[in-house]
Amino acid sequence: MDKRNYDVAIIGGGPAGLTAGLYTARARLSSLLIEKGLFGGQITNAERVENYPGFPEGISGFELGQLMYQQAAKYGLKTVTAEATGIELREGQKVVKTTEGDFTAKAVIIAGGSKRQTLGVPGEEQFIGKGVSYCATCDAAFFRELPVAVVGGGNAAITEALHLAKFASKVIVIHRRRQLRATRILQERAFAEPKIDFRWDATVESIEGEDFVKRLRLNQVITGGKLTLEVAGIFVSIGFKPDTDYLKSILPLDAVGHIITNEKMETEVAGILAAGDIRNNSGRQAITAAGDGATAAIYAERFLTES
Ligand SMILES: Cc1cc2nc3c(=O)[nH]c(=O)nc-3n(C[C@H](O)[C@H](O)[C@H](O)COP(=O)(O)OP(=O)(O)OC[C@H]3O[C@@H](n4cnc5c(N)ncnc54)[C@H](O)[C@@H]3O)c2cc1C
Repeated sequence: MDKRNYDVAIIGGGPAGLTAGLYTARARLSSLLIEKGLFGGQITNAERVENYPGFPEGISGFELGQLMYQQAAKYGLKTVTAEATGIELREGQKVVKTTEGDFTAKAVIIAGGSKRQTLGVPGEEQFIGKGVSYCATCDAAFFRELPVAVVGGGNAAITEALHLAKFASKVIVIHRRRQLRATRILQERAFAEPKIDFRWDATVESIEGEDFVKRLRLNQVITGGKLTLEVAGIFVSIGFKPDTDYLKSILPLDAVGHIITNEKMETEVAGILAAGDIRNNSGRQAITAAGDGATAAIYAERFLTES
């Protein structure tokens, strides 16, 4: 790649990064987006997206990601397939280190997303989108009047279980301990919800089915006994892991590794912003990531005009 110097460098080509790129490119800022994998990000894995405005019939996640990419590229966003491995601050510039060499920019927007932790059990990968989900907000409506399981015991898992109870015939929370980690109020709500049941001290050993999930094999951690659970879906809610190790030395991160930003998506370092699932308190949805991306681009532009 010939050009090495840009007004804005964006790390990550999911909904947050592509929206940021659309905005900065349309603002006539020279903009480079660095993506290590598929343009479109995690939403490309969604079978059907029904909660992104503008598509009343829903749209496949892959197509949505492609459309975002095409729209940003149309307005001049440049892209490179490379992994960002570090950022250095040098004489008012930011140097983004990548597997395809260094790029300099006056402002950087980090939009690398956050991976949902997986169980790593047989069947999990095979049935993603066919009964295995990591997002009740996204997929609960596909399980109307069907029995489902939720794995986890924290705030996110119990919130997902309560949301699922509005759709599913039964929600079974599988937790490896005897006590939930979720706040007392969420616990009270879950215990009071007649559709929610609990399998304590249990872990998932495998996920089985044919075209779609049919059953789970559980391991009872105290007795070592086995259990079979007939469900049509399993929602895994055991945490997130952003890929931010390479940023540790320059940016404050929260306990899990998410980037701390203010409401303008600014980090503590002037001219470095973060958007989407990689930042703390993100809504973890395509539309919230896109919104963050737009906000980050607006304040990156303001930073450039004021500095
Ligand atoms: C199966 C599935 C179904 C979903 N369904 C829905 C749904 O129906 N509705 C909804 O709103 N949301 C849904 N989501 C959630 C949604 O996909 C995410 O909230 C959204 O994609 C987050 O956007 P993002 O841009 O912040 O991050 P991501 O989409 O995760 O994109 C980040 C990108 O950055 C790249 N990257 C990371 N680190 C680096 C690096 N160091 N260098 C270069 N590139 C890097 C990654 O390869 C990735 O492409 C779903 C998610 C999954 C997994």
